[in-house]
Amino acid sequence: MSRKTELSEEDRELIEAAKEAADRLHIDDFHEVAAALRTTDKRIFTGIHIEANVGFADVCGEVAAFCTAVSSGHRNFEAIVAVWGDGKGSYKLLSPCGRCREIISDFNRNMWVIVGSLKQPYKMRISDLLPLKTE
Ligand SMILES: [Zn+2]
Repeated sequence: MSRKTELSEEDRELIEAAKEAADRLHIDDFHEVAAALRTTDKRIFTGIHIEANVGFADVCGEVAAFCTAVSSGHRNFEAIVAVWGDGKGSYKLLSPCGRCREIISDFNRNMWVIVGSLKQPYKMRISDLLPLKTE
């Protein structure tokens, strides 16, 4: 059984929002990955990753998007995507790191995560990307 699900039109819009943020906020080696997060009431929040000189201190784009949304009073989320951009029109779809999978799952165990490639994107439930999590 495949757990890969086709994207909806609003999922494709979420990818475009991440690409737009990646372009708008891009700084080489500092802000290269943007994430876009959709609430259950269909609002979109974006975040940009912050590269730190100490590797483990990086702030992922997904975390930045959550911080923006939560700071604006939103806590109910249904989908997220992260995109790397070079600031010149090239992009890559990224799947979330382990820490982000934990954070996504903490907000909503059924949240959609858009993964795959930009050519062939699909979405999966975070519970499938982080199985056997202790509740
Ligand atoms: Zn991450």
